[in-house]
Amino acid sequence: MSDVETTLRGPEAYKIASRALELMERHQVWPTALNFELWTHYVADPEGALARELTRLISLGEPMTELVSEELAAAYLPKARLNQQIRDAGDILSKELEAVSKAIQNAQKSNAAFGKELAGASKTLDKTTDVEAIKNLVGGLAEATRRVAKENRSLEARLAESTSEVERLREHLEQVRRDATTDGLTNLANRKAFDEELDRACQEADESGTTICLAVLDIDHFKGFNDTWGHQTGDQVIRYVASVIGRVAAPPRFAARYGGEEFAMIFPRETAKAVSNTLEEIRVEVSSRMLKRRSTNEDLGAITISSGFAERKPGESGHSIMERADAALYASKRGGRNRVTSAETSPASANAA
Ligand code: GH3
Ligand code: MG
Ligand code: MG
Repeated sequence: MSDVETTLRGPEAYKIASRALELMERHQVWPTALNFELWTHYVADPEGALARELTRLISLGEPMTELVSEELAAAYLPKARLNQQIRDAGDILSKELEAVSKAIQNAQKSNAAFGKELAGASKTLDKTTDVEAIKNLVGGLAEATRRVAKENRSLEARLAESTSEVERLREHLEQVRRDATTDGLTNLANRKAFDEELDRACQEADESGTTICLAVLDIDHFKGFNDTWGHQTGDQVIRYVASVIGRVAAPPRFAARYGGEEFAMIFPRETAKAVSNTLEEIRVEVSSRMLKRRSTNEDLGAITISSGFAERKPGESGHSIMERADAALYASKRGGRNRVTSAETSPASANAA
């Protein structure tokens, strides 16, 4: 464990936690789990890189939005945490392996001893006709057999225990992997997961000779929205848009938060027409919803989103379709926003690409 992690689990832990909450309140930082983690690190290691960066952002009057928190966490926390979890898992695994290998050695030893005892008994039997001696011999063999059977049973139990421990570890690492591929604000996949999925989908499309459409969606004039209503409310809007997108993204479709207020979707084996209809549905649903600020119920008006999509050409790389979808998005923006543009049918986006 790192020094900070050790401190956070030491006798000062509760003091650190309440000090962190105090500071979060003073700087008007939402008490989310992620912020709490950042701020306990701040208190536990006030000279550390994370603390210095937090101090800098606060002195600049930078609002602590979800985006800022996530960037800080990405820069300063998860690597340490991920590495730590992987190291812990490695430690547990090597301890398990050591215990299992010891159990196997013990079983081998008693099996070897048993073999020797059998060989000795067989030699004695060849020579002796004395009933009493044979009785003793058989008694001894019965005892040795029981011993070996017991040893084998305990080996079996040890292996079963080990199997369930390894299974528990596997599930834990699976959770770690899920966390590393999920966007914290929206629960959609993050950019890293999206890029991986896109590569995978391209490969599958080549193998099966099928098509993929790729779409990028971006909230219009979002900077202005943030400036007017604040980043916290902006975060809620990002979450709302993500929920609309998430609802139409059942597998095999795939949706991700690609960046701040930008989303991306993969549509395997769908026609451009079907994709265009879906993006249009999203656009209409978002633009017709009157938003309200949760805390005060104030009317925020409506927001709009623009999108662009491209149909993959055979053999085309994920990067290249993404560029064409981006160019189509850009055409939507230039065309007045709140619209869907196809890379195939928009001459503007073809020029831009
Ligand atoms: P356009 O219609 O051309 O897309 O204009 P825009 O203002 O949406 O685009 P621009 O790229 O200029 O600004 C994007 C803004 O989105 C900047 C930032 O204020 C906001 N933003 C990005 N990520 C987040 C986030 O995680 N939370 C919040 N609240 N705002 C974000
Ligand atoms: Mg935008
Ligand atoms: Mg943008």
